[in-house]
Amino acid sequence: MRYLILSDIHANWEALDAVLAHARGNYDQVLCCGDLVGYGADPNPVVEWVRVNAAGIVRGNHDKACAGLEDLEWFNAVARISAEWTLKTLSAENAAYLRRLRKGPLVFNGFDLVHGSPLDEDEYLVTLNDVVQLRPYLESHLIFFGHTHLQGGFLVHRNGIRKIEKTRIRFDDKTIELEPDPIYLINPGSVGQPRDGDPRAAYAIYTPEERLVCYHRVTYEVAKAQTKILDAGLPDMLAERLATGN
Ligand code: ZN
Repeated sequence: MRYLILSDIHANWEALDAVLAHARGNYDQVLCCGDLVGYGADPNPVVEWVRVNAAGIVRGNHDKACAGLEDLEWFNAVARISAEWTLKTLSAENAAYLRRLRKGPLVFNGFDLVHGSPLDEDEYLVTLNDVVQLRPYLESHLIFFGHTHLQGGFLVHRNGIRKIEKTRIRFDDKTIELEPDPIYLINPGSVGQPRDGDPRAAYAIYTPEERLVCYHRVTYEVAKAQTKILDAGLPDMLAERLATGN
């Protein structure tokens, strides 16, 4: 079995399309760590694709907000404007699908899927200290998470915790072999709005039989996604940030 792990697609159809073309023939099932919508201009095509193709998915904070399940007071101005636009733009069926998405963790045979952290779907795992706090509560040895839009993650060993770095800028992929003892927190990175300084769409492939996680980066038609955002009347900065990946 080969899993295609997607997270934080954020209504960016061009990025999702490029990831799927790049990963074609390389996976059997699709799993998603949430945030299908928000920020981008194609919520309906993205949700429709996920509805048909995802074998497992947990909701993200933007899915809750854009489905009307969360008070938008918690969001900054740009996120709020985009959530309100998405609420208006989503079809009734797609909005209903988002409302039904379940909260993580979603437990599989040997690994878990979450949006933020195993304890709190809205928590950001960014620093080593974030993981130190979490460590006593970690049960699964392999957790896929998103929310931060930073590809990489953490390796938790009995002697300490270290960061797993993203695919380097001049490479397209990076493979890690999972050892039996440590706990791995793996962030595939954001498909549709990377914030780790690399504007390329991010994803990962997990092959349990070989104990391999392969991180990937793919270029996509950024200009086309930007034009759609501007044409939709969404805030300019949502288009601008796609060019830098910040
Ligand atoms: Zn997100």
